[in-house]
Amino acid sequence: MNQMRTDPVILVTGANKGIGYSICKELYLSHPACQVVMTARDSQRGENARRDLIALFPAGETRLSFCTLDLADANSILGAVSYVSRTFGELDILINNAAVCIADKAFDPQVARKTLGVNVFGTRDVFRAFLPLLREGGRIINVSSKRGLLSAFGPKLRPKFLADPIVESEVIDLMHSFVAGVDLGAWHEQGWPRDVYGVSKAGLTAMTRAWALELDADRRGIMVHACCPGWCRTDMGGDKATVRNLRVIDV
Ligand code: NAP
Repeated sequence: MNQMRTDPVILVTGANKGIGYSICKELYLSHPACQVVMTARDSQRGENARRDLIALFPAGETRLSFCTLDLADANSILGAVSYVSRTFGELDILINNAAVCIADKAFDPQVARKTLGVNVFGTRDVFRAFLPLLREGGRIINVSSKRGLLSAFGPKLRPKFLADPIVESEVIDLMHSFVAGVDLGAWHEQGWPRDVYGVSKAGLTAMTRAWALELDADRRGIMVHACCPGWCRTDMGGDKATVRNLRVIDV
């Protein structure tokens, strides 16, 4: 279809529930100039979420679309890129929200691989795939977490995450060395915390800096940000979380 348009197109990963759903809700209901692309790994859950939002404001239906996007599936990512390209031509804002946090106390090589596979490598694959579609002045928002703060990391690891400049491959190497440390049972002496999810978010924050530096050389003036939403009452955050009313304050 490739419409001629000026409305910003915003794509949100993991939009079927939690913070991703709330971001889409806020954009859809309060920012009538936006085209919102909800994505989810499960098409049924994603379509249901879209239907729920349309029920709140049926007149806006044409501004809210859905396509499947599983961060752990390269073909699914390509399919989502193709959908956005065919439908809108370009993308203004990519919100990398989807993530997993497998039972807080779980700590083994399988959990490490799965968590980093989605939260770091999957997010990187989504970024790389959508980067060519981002229009001038575009934005990338990575939903990271304070759990990725480096205070729990050993003194030899911290400077590696904070290196300036830093490039994506260095972050990827760090993530692989964490998995190797868990595999060998050497993670503690290497200075890693016993927190797979926290390591994944430290990786995402460091990768955000790497991408920001890389994009300095891109003429489109694209900016990339990492944020922490606070402790939110979602399936991931649990029912004791302090942030209950999830609202996006600014776009
Ligand atoms: P949530 O309710 O568990 O939602 C996570 C979303 O990510 C779901 O839509 C989930 O889809 C999706 N997802 C998981 N694996 C995926 C994959 N392979 N491909 C595509 N989507 C996938 O979590 P949330 O609390 O809204 O968290 C959203 C973001 O905020 C995450 O990045 C999280 O790390 C961050 N965060 C949350 C908190 C908090 O307190 N909640 C605090 C700091 C940061 P399914 O429904 O199919 O599983």
